[in-house]
Amino acid sequence: MFYKDFKDIKLSRLGMGNMRLPRVNNEPKGPIDYPAAKAMIDTAMKAGINYYDTAYVYHEKTSENFLGEALKDYPRDSYYLATKFYIRSNPDYKAVFEEQLSKLQSDYIDFYLVHCIMDDSYDEYVNSGCIEYFDQLKKEGKIKYLGFSSHASPAVLKKFASLYKWDFVQIQLNYFDWLYGTAKEEYEILKELDIPVMVMEPIRGGRLSQLSNEAETILKSAKPEWSISSWALRWVMSLDQVSVVLSGMTKPVHMEDNLKTVETFTKLTEEENATLMHACETHKKYLSIPCTGCRYCCDDCPVQINIPEVIGVYNKFKVEGLGALRELKTIDSVGSPLDCIGCGMCTHHCPQSIDVPGVMAKLQELL
Ligand code: SF4
Ligand code: SF4
Repeated sequence: MFYKDFKDIKLSRLGMGNMRLPRVNNEPKGPIDYPAAKAMIDTAMKAGINYYDTAYVYHEKTSENFLGEALKDYPRDSYYLATKFYIRSNPDYKAVFEEQLSKLQSDYIDFYLVHCIMDDSYDEYVNSGCIEYFDQLKKEGKIKYLGFSSHASPAVLKKFASLYKWDFVQIQLNYFDWLYGTAKEEYEILKELDIPVMVMEPIRGGRLSQLSNEAETILKSAKPEWSISSWALRWVMSLDQVSVVLSGMTKPVHMEDNLKTVETFTKLTEEENATLMHACETHKKYLSIPCTGCRYCCDDCPVQINIPEVIGVYNKFKVEGLGALRELKTIDSVGSPLDCIGCGMCTHHCPQSIDVPGVMAKLQELL
């Protein structure tokens, strides 16, 4: 495992995200499959991964319980725990922090984050008093490093980053968002402020592990021995300001592939980088809606539509035509796009600001 200095400690380049753990029977809202997920934690610990990221809201608020159980077999100083406070889930930050300590079976949190700053949640966080409270916990040693994660615009990210002397910031960073989103601007703001960057969604929720045939051919011809995901991890690890790259691994095969990438990592050469950008431009032609599959939109949908899966089918339809819509019937979803009432709750929670009601309306026309 490669490690990188972070202040006075060393962090593994690859961190384990705990938002997409295996679920019982692979059901989208099923409980965590503890034996399968625990085996993945054991593999990660054996491989030297020392950074474990979770959040209050992951896996319908059960990810922290799982992680507390899974890591209790290991000495507390052999790993670093990262978790987050999300104001829209429960604004009582004092109670949330205590609950998190209990769920994680720990007296302290190594990396604590104000979770998912967005343009419309900036004021909620700033006015709540939570930053001052977490700063106090840091002075008491209950939080070792304080940071935040952001899905805000670059301007709001900069404003929030300048509010406090943050130890780190977590942003969505991958080559696709660098070319077509605001990731480059966000990264450069943090570099300018010299704040270490933790990376979420380096493979865009798995979307960059499978590209269009044309884009995959470009990458496979250049490096037949690299997986498609490996290109994404290598690209992000090549950025100097990046500390830990988080990957939310669901299957052992994901972990094997990621570990292989980290163990054989060298910075991308200029030529490799140009090849990747060319593949990305090619792939973009086939992409319609840039959903990462994070599922933040799902819980509050009043008709319980499996939104990311529906968007996946919509994207397929844009490439393959009407026949792809047959797959809507195979999705495990309570509601169908026809049930959408256009309430907009989904977009309110969506870090990518996707116009989900608009997609549902288009599907309603097509169906
Ligand atoms: S707009 Fe439609 S998909 Fe979105 S939350 Fe409301 S009902 Fe669900
Ligand atoms: S629509 Fe938005 S919130 Fe929902 S899964 Fe996709 S990216 Fe996440």
